[in-house]
Amino acid sequence: MSGVRRTRAPRDVRLKDQPDEVVECRDERHLFLSSDQRDERWRWPERDVIKRVNPCVRCKRVVRIKYIDENTGELAVPSKLIYRRGFLAPPGTGRIPKQAVRVEQALRFLERNPLPQKRANGPTIDQYDDYFPD
Ligand SMILES: [Zn+2]
Repeated sequence: MSGVRRTRAPRDVRLKDQPDEVVECRDERHLFLSSDQRDERWRWPERDVIKRVNPCVRCKRVVRIKYIDENTGELAVPSKLIYRRGFLAPPGTGRIPKQAVRVEQALRFLERNPLPQKRANGPTIDQYDDYFPD
């Protein structure tokens, strides 16, 4: 079949030691649940806002912060993500591309689920030589 690639892209060393949850968040984005959010009422000079803090329940390395105008419901400032140490790629190394994340996931899957290297030709009698000691 044409189009099948069997040469795997190299592993991105920046992902190698990251926990599965971090790799998953890089692929699927973070997971925020309303049940984990904490709201505080803040009084600003020009408006009253709800500060909403939401931790990512999957990777536990990112917190999302929103300031919501309590009168209009609009965001008073753009929401932002704050990253704990170890999530972002080392400074100066650029972004980790999604493709590298998926290669890492594939490698982890294959390491945990080694595929049989058998071909579809069926067994041969040579495989059973151990049953016939000399
Ligand atoms: Zn996350």
